[in-house]
Amino acid sequence: MTIDNYKFAGKKAIVRVDFNVPLDENGKITDDTRIRGALPTLKKILADGGALIIMSHMGKPKGKVNAKFSLSQITDAVAEKLGVAVQFAPDCAKAAEAAAALKPGEVLLLENLRFYPEEEGKPVGIDKEDPAYDEAKKAMKASQKEFAKTLASYADCYVNDAFGTAHRKHASTAVIADYFDADNKMLGYLMEKEVNAVDNVLSNIKRPFTAIMGGSKVSTKIGIIENLMDKVDNLILCGGMTYTFAKAQGGQIGNSICEDDKLQLALDIIAKAKAKGVNLVLGTDCVAADAFANDANTQIVPSNAIPEGWEGLDAGPNTQKAFAEAIKNAKTILWNGPAGVFEFDNFTAGSRAIADAIAEATKNGAFSLIGGGDSVACINKFGMADQVSYISTGGGALLEAIEGKILPGIAAIKG
Ligand code: AMP
Repeated sequence: MTIDNYKFAGKKAIVRVDFNVPLDENGKITDDTRIRGALPTLKKILADGGALIIMSHMGKPKGKVNAKFSLSQITDAVAEKLGVAVQFAPDCAKAAEAAAALKPGEVLLLENLRFYPEEEGKPVGIDKEDPAYDEAKKAMKASQKEFAKTLASYADCYVNDAFGTAHRKHASTAVIADYFDADNKMLGYLMEKEVNAVDNVLSNIKRPFTAIMGGSKVSTKIGIIENLMDKVDNLILCGGMTYTFAKAQGGQIGNSICEDDKLQLALDIIAKAKAKGVNLVLGTDCVAADAFANDANTQIVPSNAIPEGWEGLDAGPNTQKAFAEAIKNAKTILWNGPAGVFEFDNFTAGSRAIADAIAEATKNGAFSLIGGGDSVACINKFGMADQVSYISTGGGALLEAIEGKILPGIAAIKG
């Protein structure tokens, strides 16, 4: 079923959203991006004459009630954005009456799902090493099903619009879907957009395809690099991992960040790219600093000849040009991870060169997907969010999707 085809009139929809918004010490929302992200789905259901039961997690209360993470703090903000009153159910597992009383166009927001350990389904207060752990896990899985069944009983249909938690097999993101038949469960608009964006870089690829992987470590990106190796034409590896590659090839990297246990892995990646005909673009020069600080002294040096006491913190001018070359003419672009320590204003040039080239390619018709944590912060810092095709809202979920993993939240609905 799709959200556009479903007849919501007179129906109650239970919608899993990601309202895990940051709050300040007074409980005020400091960034409402996630709430805004869910609005098209919520408004569509209301406009069609459905009633809404909204559910989400917030923070990490670890299965216990904790006022700090109460969704009651955001009820007014949600009401304001939806333009209708929002009722609040202070116990998400005891909301049957309130849900039953809902009339078309009315909205009920459930308290934080993670106040119940059943949401995540992990046994609490017992160590993995404990011989009784397996039994506890089994018992928890059984009560997780009961919890999901209770949530499901509130509504006629289930909509999952929480991409940020789609990689988790939780009660509200996956298990609940078992209690609805295929005609009564669907992805929300935000989920559909995310799934299409990932599809554009994993299957629906227009060539050339350039992927840019940066960030601090190769170890956290290896799954993605391996999955992309079969798909891309150009693969730019930048950021801190540059120096693991430089050292693996016999270079001098001074104090630069390096994973010494990944040197062989770096050589394997280079060999694999060659064997598959992938144009692997690694940094050849860098901005080296004499301290890990914005106001450090700097010099441009080859990435494989960094003097002792200096560390590479950004891509150098030749590298920036090479990156731009590999991006400019691409028709599909994926960017995850900055090319330098972009948090320091003096080390943003590499990431900016990438962002500029992506903006240019996008203007020329390329599909560009930016996502997975720091590259989103980076593009926002440059004020260029509107110059790319799509910015993913999912950190871990996006990375797992690009690794080629099936996301439980999507599989539960699409099968
Ligand atoms: P990740 O979470 O793996 O995507 O890494 C993002 C982080 O990598 C950012 O905080 C960057 O500051 C950092 N980073 C990028 N380039 C370097 C570098 N050359 N040295 C140290 N850290 C870096």
